Amino acid sequence: MNQYDSEKLEGILSARGMEPAGSPDKADVIFVNSCSIREKAESKVFSLIGRLAGAGNGRKPVIALGGCIPTLRGKEIFRSAPAVDLLYGPDSLEKLPAMLEEYFYTGKKQIDLEFSDSTAWDGPDPCVRPSDVTAWVGIMKGCDNRCSYCVVPDTRGPEVSRPVESILAEVKALAKKGYREINLLGQNVNSYGKTLPGSVTFPELLGMAEEIEGIERIRFMTSHPKDLTDRLIERMAGSQKICPSLHLPLQAGSDRILEMMNRGYTAGDYLEKIRKLKSAVPGITISTDLMVGFPTETDDDFKKTIGVMEKVNFDSLYLFIYSRRPATPAADFDCQVPRDAAHARFEQAWALHRKTVSRKLAELEGSTVELLCEGEYGVKSTKEKDDALITQFGRSAGGHKVIFEAEKNLTGKILSVLVTRSAGFNLYGKPAAERNAHGRRDKN
Ligand code: SF4
Repeated sequence: MNQYDSEKLEGILSARGMEPAGSPDKADVIFVNSCSIREKAESKVFSLIGRLAGAGNGRKPVIALGGCIPTLRGKEIFRSAPAVDLLYGPDSLEKLPAMLEEYFYTGKKQIDLEFSDSTAWDGPDPCVRPSDVTAWVGIMKGCDNRCSYCVVPDTRGPEVSRPVESILAEVKALAKKGYREINLLGQNVNSYGKTLPGSVTFPELLGMAEEIEGIERIRFMTSHPKDLTDRLIERMAGSQKICPSLHLPLQAGSDRILEMMNRGYTAGDYLEKIRKLKSAVPGITISTDLMVGFPTETDDDFKKTIGVMEKVNFDSLYLFIYSRRPATPAADFDCQVPRDAAHARFEQAWALHRKTVSRKLAELEGSTVELLCEGEYGVKSTKEKDDALITQFGRSAGGHKVIFEAEKNLTGKILSVLVTRSAGFNLYGKPAAERNAHGRRDKN
């Protein structure tokens, strides 16, 4: 979500004639887009601001701090981090040029942390996107859930769905520009439509997006397990464009902990949804978020998390140690888990995940997967024998990253690649064929 905000911010500033400076020392203004989901992310931002305050070779740049930290901490930041000149929230991006102008004119610190009912994307698409192939498309913002550990409902405000026409207009415009993949983005896409007049649902929105010519692949995130419906599973199963890949945050495998987290499902409910997904969408890849060290988590609770991991065999995992966040119910729970115990659980869960991924990726060696090439990959390796070959990467419909070499740049093309080896979290291969006819999906 922050990455998407940065793309919007860059577009809004470019439209006013601002240009990327290239380095902090050359910048007149530095925008810091912050995350407050975990304490570590917050501390990193404040230490970054400390360093940036000394940038500019004696000519301190204006520092604008945005994202979730300002909405969480408010104007107190001007006192604790005096180098900050502007504070803006996730809904204030479009006001930033005016705030900057006011700051330059008056020299007074500026703050705007208001939430807005409108979905800041109603006008023309402002994003400057790093890719010409795949694009985030925001469909909603905020969150009405109250998971006991999470600050997002406070930092991003209540849930607001973006009107269907506005979303479809953006997707059509992206298709016209040559984008082939969209990733529909929201804190909880499964509750899309609740704030809109009429009764459009997320599966219906997906159906309308699928109709748009030129878009070959549709992804979405994030799905809350409690709101994942049979209708969505059916839509995924019957689609040639919706990728067989789903991010479904589990958070914990113990029902007691899930209840304390206020997640609204049990481990059994979660596993049942995974069963339905795997049976309806063969080859589907599942990624998840897991948290270890939640207050009161015992070894037995943690074993239950490991148990679910062993049953699901997640393809990708965002693993976190619980971080105590201000003004959340969990911050007041007794019996915070000692850091050492939480770290040990983190290591154990991560080791299991790595083993699972290595095994699953090794199983793909020798198979052919269909990729959407996203661009060149990294800098040329010294091992590259032939300078004429371009190292590139793409993703399978299931989301596996595959690195390959080819004579011509295949960015934006869909091609078949023979997987020759796996290493780490990536696959390596060589092109087998480029596809002209669209609408087919690979199993990976
Ligand atoms: S669903 Fe829960 S974890 Fe996700 S943003 Fe909302 S409150 Fe936070």
